[in-house]
Parts: sequence; C-alpha cells; structure tokens
Amino acid sequence: MTQKCVVYMRKLIDNLKSKRCLSREDITLLLTSLDEDLLIYINKVAREATDARFGKTVYARGLIELTNYCRNNCYYCGIRRENKQVERYRLTADEILECCRQGDRLGLKTFVLQGGEDPRLTDNFLEDVLLRIKKEFPNHAVTFSLGEKSRESYQKFFAAGADRYLLRHETATREHYQQLHPEDMSFDNRINCLHELKAIGYQTGAGMMIGSPGQTVENIVEDILFIKKLRPQMVGIGPFIPQHDTPFANEPAGSIDLTLMVISIIRLLLPDALMPSTTALATLNQHGYQRGILAGANVVMPNLTPQEYRAKYAIYDNKKAMFFAVEQEFEELKQQITSIGYHLSNSRGDYHNTFYHV
Ligand code: SAH
Repeated sequence: MTQKCVVYMRKLIDNLKSKRCLSREDITLLLTSLDEDLLIYINKVAREATDARFGKTVYARGLIELTNYCRNNCYYCGIRRENKQVERYRLTADEILECCRQGDRLGLKTFVLQGGEDPRLTDNFLEDVLLRIKKEFPNHAVTFSLGEKSRESYQKFFAAGADRYLLRHETATREHYQQLHPEDMSFDNRINCLHELKAIGYQTGAGMMIGSPGQTVENIVEDILFIKKLRPQMVGIGPFIPQHDTPFANEPAGSIDLTLMVISIIRLLLPDALMPSTTALATLNQHGYQRGILAGANVVMPNLTPQEYRAKYAIYDNKKAMFFAVEQEFEELKQQITSIGYHLSNSRGDYHNTFYHV
C-alpha cells in the first residue's frame, strides 16, 4: 500500500470508531486492502473500543451440544442429514442437567444449548429441560441455538425463561445462501426467524462463516451491512472449515486474517455487542482464541458436552478440544485468556445498550 493509502485507511478506521458508520464503498475498500499493517491497526483500534466498554473482562458461556440429529442438509455442515458416516446421539434431560452442574462448578453463568434441528427434541421436551435448568440455576442465563422454529415455539421458550437465541444468518445474500443450502431451505425464513427472535425480546445472535464456498467480498459487505441494520446483541463470526464427509470436503478453509478483520469492523459498528472468539478460529490457529479477543471479541464458549459425544458433533474437521476433558479444556482456555492480560468474568454477561438511542 502507498503511504497515502495507509493514511486514508487509518482515517477510515478512526472515523468508524468515532462515528460508528461506514459506507458500502469503505467496507469494500477495507476488506480488499487487507494487509498485515492494516490488520494490526484495525485490531488495535477495535480492541481499545472493547476495553473502553468492557474492560479486561471476557465472558464465558458453557456450550452443550444436545444432539447431532438434523433434518437439514446444509452443504457445509458435518452433521447434515445425508451424512451417513456420523454416528448420531441425543442427550437425555438428565445428561443435559449434569452438563449444567459441571459448568456451574467451573463458575459458568450461561448455558448454551445447541444442536441440529432434531425433530425428536420436541418443544415440550425443551421447555421441560429449560424449566429444570432454571429451577436449579435461577440466576444463570440460558441460550438456545437450535435452528429455525415457528414463532410460537420461540415464544413458548421465551415465556419459559430462555434469555438468548443464537441463529447465524450464514449469509445475507440470497444467491449465496442458495449455494450453501439445498432447495428445501429458505433464505427468507432464516432472516425472518432473526427478526422474530428480536421482536419477542431475546438477546439475539446473528453471524456468518468467513470463506464459505462461493463467498465474495460483496457477500461479506452485505453481511456487515445486514448486521449493522439488524443490530443483534450477539454476533458469531468464524472461518469456514471443511468437513470430510460433506459436499464441501475439498474446499479451502477461510482466512484467519479476514475473519479477524471482520470481527474488528463489527466491533466498531456495535460497541456493546457480545462477540465470541470462536472455536473455529482456535481450530485453525494455535493462538486463535487470543487473536479473536485481541481483534475485539469478548466471549469464549468452553465446551461442556460429555466426552463420549464430543467427537460426534463433527460440524467441521479437527474441531478443537475434541479429546480433552471438560476441566482440562477450561483450564487451558483460562490460561490463554490470562496470558494476554484478560480475565474471565463471573457474571452472566447480558447485553446492555449504551451506544444507540432506540
Ligand atoms: N442447527 C443450529 C446450529 C448450527 S451449528 C442452527 O441452525 O443455528 C452452529 C454454527 O456452526 C452454524 O450456524 C454455522 O455457521 C457453523 N458451522 C457449520 N458448519 C461449519 C463449518 N464447516 N465450518 C465452520 N463453521 C461451521
């Protein structure tokens, strides 16, 4: 980059920090000009904004992978319906409660219940589990991440005490959505679910993979503009990683640097957002968790799924910490956070709006 270019980019980033706005052209320019110096600069500015808002605190959420049965057939995902290689499992209510107890012993204040879209996990079952968790842990937050459901179902879980819902939009471009999903899945429905979740009152999480097959710079620009407009309380961004038994087995993994760049942009647009440093980042890079935090993420999601099922929730290859015990992984994660001067919070870490007037 020429010196003039560098000065212009830095001005763009400073402007983004102070005004929280960025045009389509500017986002495109940032993404296409990505080099080491620019990345270091934007990561630093984004981290300063995160420090100013959250201090040196990182929030931890205990992830419980309830089921790897799924009625969907997303081309990128290892637990897609048509993958006959994966051995299917589904936790019982008692097993789920046991995971929560384990998480509570580790000091976690949020449980994230994630899974494939498993028709056998009925609304009544989920409501029952939720009520049991809330009874035993009335001060903990519960996040659902169980895919697309009817408004009635979302409403029912919210009434029963669910606090948050994670549903990555995956891509904000219809044509790209159709490249990632078979015809029986609907872009409109996914986006509509996100609007409904927000309207019901959930702290809602959107997000996407970076480097998913067919993704262009324009697609990422759309994602950023979509997130800016939706203003979700949480945003999950991780690199795409191929899974060997999917149609995308031979596609290359997404770029870590581009992922870190997008995390920083979103952080500067949404200074209050809760953003995980994702397991996918840590899977591709030894220092992935730390790099995500240093780019502006402020959440980590240690895995509470029982050891015997962990490897079966194989959404992508070489998923980090597949073979470690829960406590061991958690300790390692804690150390990684400490090593960069941060600490894990012992509070729930709910969303609070301080920057935007609604
Ligand atoms: N069924 C739930 C949970 C899906 S798994 C739902 O639909 O929301 C959680 C996230 O993992 C997905 O939203 C997707 O963005 C991500 N994921 C799936 N396959 C992946 C892959 N191969 N590489 C990276 N991330 C992947």
